[in-house]
This record gives sequence, structure tokens and C-alpha cells, in this order.
Amino acid sequence: MQNTKYVFVTGGVTSSLGKGIIAASLAKLLQARGFRVTIQKLDPYINIDPGTLNPYEHGECYVTDDGAETDLDLGHYERFLGIPTSQANNVTTGRIYQSVIDKERKGEFLGKTVQVIPHITDEIKERVQLLGETGEFDIVVTEIGGTVGDIESLPYIESVRQLLWEKGEENAIVIHLTLIPYLAAAGELKTKPTQHSVKSLMESGVSPDILVCRTEHHISDDIKRKLALFCNVNKEDVIESIDAETIYDVPILMLDQGLDKVVLKKLDLPLKSNPDLIKWNDFLIKHKSPTSEVEIALIGKYVELHDSYKSITEAFIHAGSSYATKVNVRWVHSENLDLSNYEEHLKDVDGILVAPGFGDRGIDGKIKAVQYARENNIPFFGICLGMQMAVIEFAKNVLGLKDAYSTEMKPNAENPVIDLMQSQKDVVNKGGTMRLGAWDCQLAEDSKSFKAYGKVNIQERHRHRYEFNNDYLADMEANGMIAVGKNPKADLVEVVEIPDHPWFVGVQYHPEYKSTVLNPHPLFVHFIKAALKYSNQK
Ligand code: GLN
Repeated sequence: MQNTKYVFVTGGVTSSLGKGIIAASLAKLLQARGFRVTIQKLDPYINIDPGTLNPYEHGECYVTDDGAETDLDLGHYERFLGIPTSQANNVTTGRIYQSVIDKERKGEFLGKTVQVIPHITDEIKERVQLLGETGEFDIVVTEIGGTVGDIESLPYIESVRQLLWEKGEENAIVIHLTLIPYLAAAGELKTKPTQHSVKSLMESGVSPDILVCRTEHHISDDIKRKLALFCNVNKEDVIESIDAETIYDVPILMLDQGLDKVVLKKLDLPLKSNPDLIKWNDFLIKHKSPTSEVEIALIGKYVELHDSYKSITEAFIHAGSSYATKVNVRWVHSENLDLSNYEEHLKDVDGILVAPGFGDRGIDGKIKAVQYARENNIPFFGICLGMQMAVIEFAKNVLGLKDAYSTEMKPNAENPVIDLMQSQKDVVNKGGTMRLGAWDCQLAEDSKSFKAYGKVNIQERHRHRYEFNNDYLADMEANGMIAVGKNPKADLVEVVEIPDHPWFVGVQYHPEYKSTVLNPHPLFVHFIKAALKYSNQK
């Protein structure tokens, strides 16, 4: 069997250039040619994981099957590649240091002074090679977070330098993603920032093999030649990455530019087959030429930063394409919804999704949105906190339990219909201690959820501390809200539905994490289907 090969993706000039999308697009093309590929993200911040970060910092926290709380780029990796990632696919500086310090405490360094080089860099290198050593992958694409020149990225760049040397040039390469800004006043694309960024990379002993250049305008041969001359690359290795209509165009644009071919050539790997992108292109056609539209209100408290709900909005795109439908999101700030204005904010939508979240900010607005959907027969989808709000709303307005609440927002609520799990009661640390990762769920065969999934036994990913309180289950069911999905072992309620409503589904888990381009999530597909039906009846 052949050795695993490594591709490192670094970024220069500025952040937000879309390293994750370029890495995912390259991996997609290599996968479509028949290679076994995975992607990894190294994040230079000191948090152990993004689980404790406010979504305003870096957007959504993405959760894997094995319960890792990770960077949202892992969501792109799974959505593009259709294969699950794990804790090993996301490493932070915090995790690296924690592991080195644990080893130091155990005396594993045998009295040596523990230093950034070699101890921190060794740990980074170990994490990079871990995925390769499983034997499951021909190529590991490793994205280095941050921008070249940042102080906090230095140990990662140094580790890349060492790995390039150790593996040899046919086994490890660097792609540097940069920006070629367009100066309107001069009417010109400018290469200088890229020259500086490559220089800064070279000061760390790393010379890029390939430049991928983000640009708003096509890059001429002259500019490519200039970049090649100043940056020690061949002209063919300067790849244009022009602004795309959708992130899902990027693999096709990279194919046109030949990124996969230059990568394989440098890694001394055969081209194998032409990339099989038939299904991908089918998806793109339906996504880009929709024949119908629906409008979904997304109720959340982080709506100013759309990245906070990345997996949900991408799941809408995947599900919408199943019906060649454009899903327009109406962003509704839960804090702005109150008794006087909720109808105005929500009127004319074809579906309402109440989003996940933590804490009590905007809670009453979420409850109002649920009520509006329930009373007006508007398709409703509640995810995690959204499901909990659906339970609270039903308890308040149907069961008449005026003080129904979650103990998360009201610790002494008279009717804690959502309550802390027993196993959570003694938990003190916030990081990595929620109910996380994939859990089993059994669906009732007469439910809308069963109809969507087409099977009884499913597994979905979780990220929460609070649960449906089973003391209220009988009363809820007698009044029309049914627990149609349960965890078979712990008897925890996973899915609630109102059978008398056209489509009212609340899930304690996060279906959005498992939606991919080629496998849109069944609940999102059926939610959009219900929204289309509702829209046609209007
Ligand atoms: N805050 C709620 C809980 O911890 C819901 C979490 C979420 O929406 N992810 O149970």
C-alpha cells in the first residue's frame, strides 16, 4: 500500500478568504477521481475547542458523531465529501498544549526542558500524521487556521516546514491561498500583498508549491508570470479562484483551473479517472435554476452573524435542491419579537424554524414564534432549544401551565417541562460536558418523522444539557403533542410532533449537522416539502 500524502493549505494577506472551501473543493475533486481523502483543520487559538465560544466569535460550533465540538469548517468538509469527521480532524493550540502539559506532569519528557520546538511542534506533527497512520486515506488535506505572519500560527508553520522536509517533496506539499485585490482607481489587480505574504512564509522556511489566488477579476497570463517570478512557483502552479455564485461552484471552478491535476502531479500520483461529478452537477443545476421559492423565518438570537447558523442554512440549500426550490431565509431576531409585533415579523412566511441556542436572551420571542406557527398551521421545525420552546409553548398555552419553563432560564419554575438531565446535575466544567455526539433514536411508525426518514432506528448528533421532563409526558400526549422519537436506552424524548398540525416537528438533536450536498437531510427535505405545499395553498 502506498504512503499517505499530505497537502497543507495556508492563508495569506487576510482572513476570510475561504481556505476551508478551497481545501474542501480540492478534497472533493481528489475523492471524485477515486482517492480516499480526508481533511483536517488546525486552529491557532488557545480554547481547547470552540464549544465554549460564543457564536459571534467564529460562527457555529459544529459537532461530529464522536461528540467533538469543532470549527464550522468541518461542516463544509462533511457537506462536500459526504464522509464523517471526528475529533482527530480538528486540533487547537489549547488541545496541543494541554496534551504536552499532561505529558510533562507524567514525567514523560524525562527531565528535559519542555519547549515550543521540539515538544509543541512534535505534538502538532503527531496530530497531523494520526489520520494518515490509520491507513484509511491516500491523501490528508490539512488546513492551517489563521493568516501567515500571525504570531500564534508560527508553531504550525514550523511543523509544516519540518514535515515537508521529513516526508520529501513528493509526499507533502503546500498550497498558499492569497488575495489579489483589484484597485478600482488604478483599474488593476495587485500582486504585491501576495509577494509579501509568500516572503513571510519563506522567512519561516516554507516555500509554497501552489498559489491559489482569490480574485474578483480574471488573472491574466502576465500576472501569473509575475507571481511565478516573485514567489518561486511555476506559472502553471498559479491557480485563479474567482468569486463564485455559490460555494458549491468552487470544486467545478478548481477543476477548470486544474488544481487537482497540479496537486496530483506534485505528489507523483496518477490522475486515475476523470472526476465523477455527475450528481454534484445535478445538484448545482437544480440549486442555481430553481423553479419555485419558499420563505422560511429563522428565529434566533445570533442572526446578525449568519455563520452562527451555517449548517442550517446549508441544509436548506441541500433540501431545496431536491425540489428545485430556492429557500429564502427571513432572519428574525428573537429579541425583537414581542406581543405587539410578532405577526408583522412572521406574516406570509411558508415555514418557521426556531433555532438552537443557550440562555434566556430572546426566549419569549421564540415561544411566540412557535405559537404563531402552531395556531396558524404554518410548517414548524424546532431544533434543540427550538424543540424545547415548542414544548414550553404547548405546556403554557394548551395545557394551561402558565409557569411552564425550562430550568435553564428559570431554575425555580413551578412546571419545569424542560429540565436538567440527572447526569448533568453535578457537572461543574462547561467545556465538553454536554450530551454530545451521536445517540440512538427510535421513531414511531405513524409519525411524520418516520415518513421522512423511512426507518425506525436513526442516529443523530446532540449538543445540549436540558431535556424534555417525562413527568409531563402523559399530559402532553393526552392533549395532542406526541413524543414520536425516543432514545431506547435512556427513555429520553428526542422528537415531538403535533399530529393535528400539517407539519410540526421538534427535535432535541441537530439534524443540520448531517445534511450533505448529495444526501440532504430527510427532515429538512420534508420541512421544505411542507412549506411548498403551504405556499401553494396560500
Ligand atoms: N440550551 C439548551 C440546552 O442546553 C439547548 C441547546 C441547543 O440548542 N443546542 O439544553
